[in-house]
Amino acid sequence: MTQIQKNITELKEQLPQGVRLVAVSKYHPVEELMEAYDAGQRLFGESRAQELVAKAPELPKDICWHFIGHLQKNKVRAIMPYVAVIESVDSVKLLRLIEKEAERIDRTVDVLLQLHVAQEETKSGFSVDEVLEAAEAGQLTEGLPHVNVCGVMAMASLTDDMDQVAKEFDLVRRTYITLKDGCFDESEYFNELSMGMSDDWRIAVDCGSTMVRIGSAIFGPREY
Ligand SMILES: *Cc1c(COP(=O)(O)O)cnc(C)c1O
Repeated sequence: MTQIQKNITELKEQLPQGVRLVAVSKYHPVEELMEAYDAGQRLFGESRAQELVAKAPELPKDICWHFIGHLQKNKVRAIMPYVAVIESVDSVKLLRLIEKEAERIDRTVDVLLQLHVAQEETKSGFSVDEVLEAAEAGQLTEGLPHVNVCGVMAMASLTDDMDQVAKEFDLVRRTYITLKDGCFDESEYFNELSMGMSDDWRIAVDCGSTMVRIGSAIFGPREY
């Protein structure tokens, strides 16, 4: 077994049942993704459109690609043929555009709403108020026949203060519940809470995460 395969096996042993593992493979070559694939990994996360579009055709077709990075509007069309889930929908405008591009190639695409709860201004996402207002206005549910809104995604602050991280994840979970009981109460899709990365996934799982996105703890450090 390779180190990558050991890392995946160990993570899977520790994740509770019902919590899925997205292997975040950005900046890593397809050979390393294949090692993960050969260990049974099928969910992969990429954060740059060009990188996803380059890698996906090189790899087996039964991989589910999750797009997790900031998505520029002019890149939606390029990723649409490859992506299973767009986890990083951060505006109503982007949601509308995803609907339009999915319709254009006659498919349905799963998405998550990215929430901004971290202290860093550089991170993107809806604020809690913005997402609740959009929900109230019907903008997350109406006129989206080619989009399944499946839940929310978020990143916590980059900090050693684990109480702060837990507080942020808890806010994400509460917002998820508010949306689920509100405008998504009749949705069969709205079930996912994507939170937790290499350094904070245990806290995220304690806070109700259903999907962790782990990169460096599987593939090692990224070379930018
Ligand atoms: C890079 C990235 C991750 C994985 O980060 P690691 O710390 O390497 O596990 C998770 N989520 C998003 C949105 C990312 O961009």
